[in-house]
Amino acid sequence: MRYLSTRGGIPPIGFSEAVMMGLATDGGLLLPATLPNLDPPTLARWAGLGYPELAMEVMRPFVGEDLSAEELADLVRRSYARFDHPEVTPLVRVGDTPILELFHGPTAAFKDVALQFLGNLFELLLARSGGRLNILGATSGDTGSAAIYGVRGKDRINIFILHPHGRISPVQERQMTTVLDPNVFNVAVRGTFDDAQRIVKVLFSDLQFKERFRLGAVNSINWARILAQMVYYFYAWGRLSRGDPARPVSFAVPTGNFGDIFAGYLAKRMGLPVERLIIATNRNDILTRFVTTGRYALSEVHATLSPAMDIQVSSNFERYLYYLLGGDAEALRGLMERLGRKGSLGVSAEQLAQVQAVFDAVAVSDGETLAQIRDTYRSSGYVLDPHTAVGVWAARRCPGAVCLATAHPAKFGDAVREAIGREPEMPPPLQGLMGRETRCALLEAQVPAVRSYLEQTLGVGA
Ligand SMILES: *Cc1c(COP(=O)(O)O)cnc(C)c1O
Repeated sequence: MRYLSTRGGIPPIGFSEAVMMGLATDGGLLLPATLPNLDPPTLARWAGLGYPELAMEVMRPFVGEDLSAEELADLVRRSYARFDHPEVTPLVRVGDTPILELFHGPTAAFKDVALQFLGNLFELLLARSGGRLNILGATSGDTGSAAIYGVRGKDRINIFILHPHGRISPVQERQMTTVLDPNVFNVAVRGTFDDAQRIVKVLFSDLQFKERFRLGAVNSINWARILAQMVYYFYAWGRLSRGDPARPVSFAVPTGNFGDIFAGYLAKRMGLPVERLIIATNRNDILTRFVTTGRYALSEVHATLSPAMDIQVSSNFERYLYYLLGGDAEALRGLMERLGRKGSLGVSAEQLAQVQAVFDAVAVSDGETLAQIRDTYRSSGYVLDPHTAVGVWAARRCPGAVCLATAHPAKFGDAVREAIGREPEMPPPLQGLMGRETRCALLEAQVPAVRSYLEQTLGVGA
């Protein structure tokens, strides 16, 4: 399998190179040049597989010759062995709603599904090339801990995660700072999340510094993350349809950067019988406005009860646009340039009709999110986290759709208490966090402070 950039500026590359590149060097996003076309007998056979076996089958064609079948099997097995449910992503029924629980990984959030795999994959590829990688990122909560757990203890990788001091929830802070592996560096900065993110951006934009310290990112645009996230769409369909191609399934997906739902879109393009994909957003509704009007227009970010979806632009959306434009990289470059210049872009009426043939979109308010948590709890005793509640609310117009549960409710205990008057129970990975030893550096929210911390930690010749 070869990979190309949505902006058409790089020669086709293989899987390993695509994973190590992350963002394409021409500023675009990487996509496979072709997609496998799955026939009904194949899908029917896959419907009976357990999660690791299914992951192997789904990933195989995308990996091509770069990993042997044994290497891929070993990666998949190790990546999902630490999930606390034997099915990895179990499908449960809550009243009439099928809920796909994606939060059984080590940090109790769905990002583990992709980042456990990505961490192992990085380690394997770096062992081969003899290279090293220093991951640098800023987090407002969830992504940081999932990234840390993805690479803790791995050879040839260090990870530096900045968070705003005292401005993330105590559970989220402890999830990161209780990881004591020598390759994990937590940095609290005296400032806001925006300060932390700005510092990371400045350091990445210094190309000399970036090269010298082999800096890399683990953001939602790495192709391997999309790949790992495709698997559970196949899994859910298999459980519900029992392999009958005449039984399509719809999915409601709490969406921020469009990574999770894009994985579902690719599964559909590959032949998985997916009827509708429902984009569930909170008040930050750029995607919902796009699906409704065909205009993708930036606006300011609002803080909500589902903070992992508080985004201004959806970084994976460009991948979808590329398909919508029929793979015309030049037209895509034009649109992205317009977005950069004017803060908005638009598609034709015909293209909008294509969007609406696949996607629905609903923007859900905080009040509706709380009401959904309360309703579901009263009618079934099941506790939704606020992100999942956004998805379940959005699925009301599409009965029977599978709702993706993206976080364990205990990660967002305040919102849950506000809705139902009690705290959710702590899942095993979150138990006992408060009593554990922690390690974290505290720095001023200034580029030079973080720069010299990196230099000192990594040594000048690192
Ligand atoms: C990251 C995240 C999302 C959004 O996923 P995208 O791939 O960015 O659309 C939803 N819910 C939770 C809990 C998350 O951490």
